[in-house]
Amino acid sequence: MFKKKCLSACLLVILFVMMIFVPVQSVQAAGLDSIVSTLAQSTVSSEASTGGGGLVNELLDLLFNKILGPVLNIFNGKAASSSNTSSAKITPLPSGNAGSVVDSGVLRGKVIVVDPGHGGSNPGAVANNDREADNNLAVGLKLKDKLSAAGAKVILTRSTDRTVAPEGSSLGQELESRVSLAETNHADMFISIHSNENPDSSIAGAMTFYHSAKSPQLALSVQSELIKATGAVDKGTSPATYYVLRNTSMPGILVEMGFVSNAAEAGRLQNDSYQNNIAQGIYAGVVKYFNNR
Ligand SMILES: [Zn+2]
Repeated sequence: MFKKKCLSACLLVILFVMMIFVPVQSVQAAGLDSIVSTLAQSTVSSEASTGGGGLVNELLDLLFNKILGPVLNIFNGKAASSSNTSSAKITPLPSGNAGSVVDSGVLRGKVIVVDPGHGGSNPGAVANNDREADNNLAVGLKLKDKLSAAGAKVILTRSTDRTVAPEGSSLGQELESRVSLAETNHADMFISIHSNENPDSSIAGAMTFYHSAKSPQLALSVQSELIKATGAVDKGTSPATYYVLRNTSMPGILVEMGFVSNAAEAGRLQNDSYQNNIAQGIYAGVVKYFNNR
């Protein structure tokens, strides 16, 4: 009787050890790059994936966070999602650092409109000594440099602190001026850059909006690369009906880089190297999007 019990216990231990180590070894054999790629394509923000759950999700959480996470030390405690099966090849960016992007040649000849939101008499959101229009312009200029260096033809809707339509125009005319720059130049892509605000100053994070069924993949690519490059709170992607997205015919996104109403994030949004990380993240997302088409 004792022997039988001992044997069963041993078998259980062996089974448990195999459950833990066999998947780890096979995943490691597949290479760190592919693991990072798979997880980097997570389409669900960390907030969303901590919600409902279910046994499979709990098992995945256990596998990725409790077992693979500590082993590979790359997940920062975030839940992984396997919902996106796209087979993108991504060169992972070190968190908080600008990195290189593979196959940026896809940008050659692409016409991309970069639209730093607000400007001139319209500073956008203002809090914590941070003006949205200034953040938007600084990142827009850096993004233009990166896209241009890869061969894209970049059109900035504004390159100084000014309105796009003549000063004193209506908001409708101002937004229409931005849209018409994209339309008359037959742009391949429209990227509007903004900073967010909220009465709750504890809210921070980056999110990417798109219009209807036109650009969800672009939004997902940019959002995931943006989070990788900045380490910002991932507030996910969302459809929206903003004028500049609704009225442009090419794939377009509106990136809310962070909240000026959050003191810490307002500080980062004004920091030159953080602005560079944002631009690098958006750039990497755009490259990934064109590579996957
Ligand atoms: Zn704005």
